[in-house]
Amino acid sequence: MNADIGIGGCGVAGLALATFLARAGARVTTFDKLAAPAPLGSGLILQPPGMAVLSALGLDAPVASLGARIDRLFGRAQPSGHVVLDVRYAALPGAGHGVAVHRGALFGVLLEAALAAGVRMEPRSDVSGVDDGRFLFADGRRSARFDLLVDALGVRSPLAPTAGKLLDYGALWASLDWPAGDAFDAHALEQRYERARRMVGVLPIGALAQGSPRQAAFFWSLRHDAFAAWRAAPLDAWKADVGALWPQVAPFLAQLHSHDDLVFARYAHRTLAHPVAREVVHVGDSYHCTSPQLGQGANMALLDAYALAEALRVHADCADALAAYARMRRLHVRLYQTASWLFTPVYQSDSTVLPVLRDRVAGPLSKVWPAPQILAALVAGAIGAPLAAIRGARAPAMLPSSHAAA
Ligand SMILES: Cc1cc2nc3c(=O)[nH]c(=O)nc-3n(C[C@H](O)[C@H](O)[C@H](O)COP(=O)(O)OP(=O)(O)OC[C@H]3O[C@@H](n4cnc5c(N)ncnc54)[C@H](O)[C@@H]3O)c2cc1C
Repeated sequence: MNADIGIGGCGVAGLALATFLARAGARVTTFDKLAAPAPLGSGLILQPPGMAVLSALGLDAPVASLGARIDRLFGRAQPSGHVVLDVRYAALPGAGHGVAVHRGALFGVLLEAALAAGVRMEPRSDVSGVDDGRFLFADGRRSARFDLLVDALGVRSPLAPTAGKLLDYGALWASLDWPAGDAFDAHALEQRYERARRMVGVLPIGALAQGSPRQAAFFWSLRHDAFAAWRAAPLDAWKADVGALWPQVAPFLAQLHSHDDLVFARYAHRTLAHPVAREVVHVGDSYHCTSPQLGQGANMALLDAYALAEALRVHADCADALAAYARMRRLHVRLYQTASWLFTPVYQSDSTVLPVLRDRVAGPLSKVWPAPQILAALVAGAIGAPLAAIRGARAPAMLPSSHAAA
């Protein structure tokens, strides 16, 4: 591929795309506002399509060896103890399983691959706009001119034509050491809810590096307008609230000594009608962001990167390639953004009706055929057949053999 490509953002989408394109022969430069590339946040679940993209990069094995296999998503409403979420990947033959990883572990693997592929990195480059094939930076600098500009700047991208709608609820997150004993399922995301106003969760995320301790992502749902009050109140008062909802999390709470041990993530929802606009092509959260309730954002970012790289490889004309990329991703993005928009208030909102429906109607119904199969397909990221949409758009002879089993 004989092209100069500029990518704004060194996150999941930016690094994966940069590696695909550099390996295909493009000259790729990434720009990130951070002083050095670094991951933000705690941990996340990679679903089978996301792992298939990593497999296409030859990076699935190192990520899986650091991460934790996830077979089940499980949640109970309190104080009733009713099971209101119980999704097992095994309910759908062939659905595979999730791999939960420390963000730092995923980032480290992606960064190493990008550097090895010859991607140039320009840190301390706070992108503020684009003009005539160049990135513009907040300090007044301009980049060199590129044949293609990619926006992988994430949820708050200044290049996205519309701002995301800030959701009422976000969450406090921390990566904490996995406790001794068997109080928690090492292969399940577990949550406890009180209505939809309170939620505490534990996700095993494996290790940051080979030989380092196993960890969990620990999270607590919080309204963004309640964050200042949370910070001002004693940490022990909050710990008492969390412990009352799920007493078994005491070993995690014991590892938290100050408010600064937790990071507050605000969530926003946005789906661009089209991923190509104003001389820029959008990938990842800049194209579609949402709450992490369905755990699909990083997977969708990886699928975007794969689709765009494939489209650019197959189509000699850039406009054709961008149109093909938009077609490959449209259905999957719309389905999951809609599902996330519908599901989020069931688990994070002030509604009094939705949690009652969840606990009394949806919870029991979710155990009846074919709901377990549909929920497994939804969580596994399989609805809309995202990989087939990418594969179907190119000649079968171009398929690397490793994809056939993905
Ligand atoms: C708390 C939380 C939990 C999540 N859990 C899951 C999960 O379980 N499964 C899942 O699949 N997804 C999950 N997600 C979503 C997932 O993290 C995102 O969808 C994914 O990281 C998006 O990748 P991206 O590359 O588009 O953006 P990011 O990974 O956010 O990367 C954006 C990059 O752009 C840089 N940047 C931003 N603005 C500028 C600027 N102006 N100039 C230069 N650089 C800039 C940033 O420094 C960053 O490096 C979760 C998200 C959150 C917040």
